[in-house]
Amino acid sequence: MTDLQPMPEDWTRALAIVAHPDDMEYGAGGAVAAWTAQGKEVAYVMVSRGEAGIDGMSPEECAPVREAEQIASAAAVGVSTVEFLDHKDGLIQAGIELRRDLTRVIRRHKPELIITLNRRDHWQPGSWNSADHRAVGDSVLDAAFDSGNRWIHTELIDEGHQPWQGVRWVALANSPQSTHAVDITGTLERAIASLAEHKAYIGALSDQAPEAYARQFLTMVGKGGGERFGCELATPFELISLG
Ligand SMILES: [Zn+2]
Repeated sequence: MTDLQPMPEDWTRALAIVAHPDDMEYGAGGAVAAWTAQGKEVAYVMVSRGEAGIDGMSPEECAPVREAEQIASAAAVGVSTVEFLDHKDGLIQAGIELRRDLTRVIRRHKPELIITLNRRDHWQPGSWNSADHRAVGDSVLDAAFDSGNRWIHTELIDEGHQPWQGVRWVALANSPQSTHAVDITGTLERAIASLAEHKAYIGALSDQAPEAYARQFLTMVGKGGGERFGCELATPFELISLG
């Protein structure tokens, strides 16, 4: 018996906002591929360039490599818009500055659904989530509300960004408190291709070839979601409704 509800699909525009290149691919790539195949628009915003993500590469070398890998991995699931906000990887701070930057991108993209990554302390009991993911997850939720209020971040009005009150949901991937899911049985291969584009990143983590690494990880995670959702493979989300 499933404990997860189907994700709402009566929307046309989603915006994913995550801390790092690779965050979407470890969590939500199969769901994004399913949505873009239905003709929905999905854009990606990376809060950092992921420049502190590879031990053997300096941030200056690493940033352009990870940007290019992210653009290729987004294209593999039908996403052609990828933006980078250039907050400092590893040291992203939740606060007014980040909320304002996220409010700006939300007002510009006008999404009905925002996707981000787990904001809770743990992935599961006994495993600690990163400071960047916690900071970004909380700030995305706050900015989803800020984006509709013209009296918060008033400098954005001066820049021409009018309030956007159309955000209906924020969906958090890889949350230990998932409530909803998307069947990704038909899009696993595209999710694997997408994660495997992070060649330099995976190369630094694993001796496996990127495609084999991505297949093993995403099949394992997808089966776990599928068991809960009552299908072969699924991606769970914690869904928060606004308004
Ligand atoms: Zn990350």
